[in-house]
Amino acid sequence: MTVRLLFGRPLPGTLGETRRVVHVFEVPPVDAVPERLTAFCGLSFGHGELEQLDRPTGMPCESCLRRTPTPDPELTAGSPGSATKGRQE
Ligand SMILES: [Zn+2]
Repeated sequence: MTVRLLFGRPLPGTLGETRRVVHVFEVPPVDAVPERLTAFCGLSFGHGELEQLDRPTGMPCESCLRRTPTPDPELTAGSPGSATKGRQE
């Protein structure tokens, strides 16, 4: 089963520039039009609060990346994986 993913970031002016990271959302069923979309990191956005992106661009939300079921190689490239954790000697 493939989970379709959607990328979006808060519109300019809704949050500080540094918090305008790209969140990852699961695409809702076509017959459902939710009031709000909830990102994998738990943040939710209503209509008019989100700039939808065709593809991941800019700074990604790290919390979303960790929870994304099928990570996009393009998104995870460059960010440290869990394999490097716990080795701080
Ligand atoms: Zn997020």
